[in-house]
Amino acid sequence: MRTLILVSAVALVAFSSSALAETPRQNPTAPSDPNQSFPVGFQDFAEIGDLDHTTYDRELNGGASNLVWINPCRGGCTFTVVNRGQDDAQNNETSIPAGEVPIGGRVTLSEFRFEQDTYDTAIECLREVWRPYDIEILTEEPAPGVIHHEAVLAGTATELGIQENSDQGQILGIAPSICTVRDNVPSFSFANAHPDNPIQLCWTLSHEIGHAFGLEHEFACEDPMTYLTQCGFRKFFRDAELPCGAFEQTPNCFCGGGKQTQNTHEWLLGVFGPGVGARAPELTLISPAADAVVDERYPILVDASDIRGIDRVEFYINDLLVSTVEESNGSSDTGYLFITSASQSDGVQNIEVRAYNDLELVTTATVRALKGSACTSTSECGVNEECSDGACTVLPPTIEDGGECTIDTQCLSGECTDSSQGSRCTTGCVPGIEGACADGFECLPTSEVDGVCWPTDTGGGCSVTGNSRAASLGAWMLGLALVIARRRRRR
Ligand SMILES: [Zn+2]
Repeated sequence: MRTLILVSAVALVAFSSSALAETPRQNPTAPSDPNQSFPVGFQDFAEIGDLDHTTYDRELNGGASNLVWINPCRGGCTFTVVNRGQDDAQNNETSIPAGEVPIGGRVTLSEFRFEQDTYDTAIECLREVWRPYDIEILTEEPAPGVIHHEAVLAGTATELGIQENSDQGQILGIAPSICTVRDNVPSFSFANAHPDNPIQLCWTLSHEIGHAFGLEHEFACEDPMTYLTQCGFRKFFRDAELPCGAFEQTPNCFCGGGKQTQNTHEWLLGVFGPGVGARAPELTLISPAADAVVDERYPILVDASDIRGIDRVEFYINDLLVSTVEESNGSSDTGYLFITSASQSDGVQNIEVRAYNDLELVTTATVRALKGSACTSTSECGVNEECSDGACTVLPPTIEDGGECTIDTQCLSGECTDSSQGSRCTTGCVPGIEGACADGFECLPTSEVDGVCWPTDTGGGCSVTGNSRAASLGAWMLGLALVIARRRRRR
């Protein structure tokens, strides 16, 4: 069996170099902290078997206890040093200092040094981060014999017996990690090496607990498994394929047999199963007001927010999607605006806005307004629309590629393209690639890099006579390219 050399203990470390600390902060809601620094890594190694890190099958692999105790070490707490792989949360045994502290030796961590308020707020944050998964964040030690994960939130790395290297900065946390789930182990978030910042403590806790349950470092600032700070300290496990790496993006992830990305959310869902559920975004429709009479072009304005960040906001009028605003990195933007087109038909405007977070949880807001007067018959509406309850509503598309059209909404492809040969329903293609279009179609360029699949039987253009078929065809295609305009008649 192929074996891999894998990180068995991975850490989050504070670094005091100002050069490294100058990462720009983009998220205005993130706590600003002069002590915040760039974390660097601490690693040691163990040989383990080949592991497929793509997903985790709870049924097949047994899952893990869903109890996570956040131990502030009141009065200090003592751990016995054991060999690698022998870590035991119930008996306060850790292998992290093995090699630096003799096996059987004892180490004692000082108690959480901040006010109870900081601990409580960190717990509240942690519960929000882990809300999508079936785990229970405990503030009291489970009864003897109950298997759990113990997330120590106290002490410093030095107290645990780890030699800190001044070049590497101060170690903020460390956990035993072998690319898959380790049940009943302690992880360490060194609270007393942190500033008094519950959101940063929450990040470190989530990061170290994540390591213990099989996650590796991610080069993406919106996820707790990152070292990056430029999108703030409040981070959530993302349902997204994100690149791996601590200080730089690595071509392949460490775990997962050559996989190039990690999806932390999917992995944790596999380990624990779904929890009570993350919340959908909050959404308030600000304009137009209910039953407002709107102008020829009118703004639709909403306030959308989500503690995880907004993924996208969609605007619909009379059931037709008219605009999508996409976000990234868990943006903290809140105001979202769409200004309608003048070609929007008069009549009742049934407006619907949908705000999504990265877990595809959606909140919807609706409002009814009036543009001009309510329609009374389909003749008052635009092409491919019918009058229904006073609103001009777009009919479903019916025309296949190559068919004649006058408006995008008629086309199954959503695209009606004009040319000197008339207007046809089209799909996009890349010119110059063999087989870019189906039989009976050719890819005509609309720009240097884009094209549309155009039916080859649309008239005289291709019926080339004379001495140079190739030259004539080329000229015809160029002519067509000049007059093709990809229109988005979205109303
Ligand atoms: Zn780490």
